Amino acid sequence: MAKYDLVKMQKKLVKYLDEDRFQHTMGVMYSAACLAMAHGYDIQDAQAAGLLHDCAKCIPNKKKIRLCEQHNIAITEFEKTHPFLIHAKLGAYIAEKKYNITDREILNAITWHTTGRPGMSMLEKIIYIADYIEPMRDKAPNLSRIRPLAFVDLDECMYEILRDTLDYLEENPKEIDETTREAFEYFDELHRNRQQK
Ligand code: FE
Ligand code: FE
Repeated sequence: MAKYDLVKMQKKLVKYLDEDRFQHTMGVMYSAACLAMAHGYDIQDAQAAGLLHDCAKCIPNKKKIRLCEQHNIAITEFEKTHPFLIHAKLGAYIAEKKYNITDREILNAITWHTTGRPGMSMLEKIIYIADYIEPMRDKAPNLSRIRPLAFVDLDECMYEILRDTLDYLEENPKEIDETTREAFEYFDELHRNRQQK
């Protein structure tokens, strides 16, 4: 039996997301499924995580902060001034409470999909990457190289995406979340170790 009723989740999500975000969400769900196939991860878990990763995205920023306060979800000063980041951890909370997700792997993949982090799990990498490469994305540089790489090597792909992301954010250093930089340093080290071999 199917572990998750993905269609039921979609019907609920469509009420909470605008049209573009819903289409993006579907793209992430299918991209995550394909990455799970390529790397031997549970396909349904990857789809559920992909579907729910942005479930809190369309909540107005003030309400995001209020909901976190109400439910004792800790937010940093940086998140308070950059409230779009909050949709990740708030999304994990909503996935648990409103979509009955109990799988920690899935909840963590939602929590870390915006910044990444050092030592990411396979599902965390799959969702982070699926979010970046799904078919509707067209703005990021190097997508034509990054997309095929995602199906070959998740760590190397994380390295490339984080490097491009930091390059982009570097234009405005105040806008960089520390966690993103720590994530980059982690994958940069994996990358260097690999070069030495
Ligand atoms: Fe997001
Ligand atoms: Fe997203």
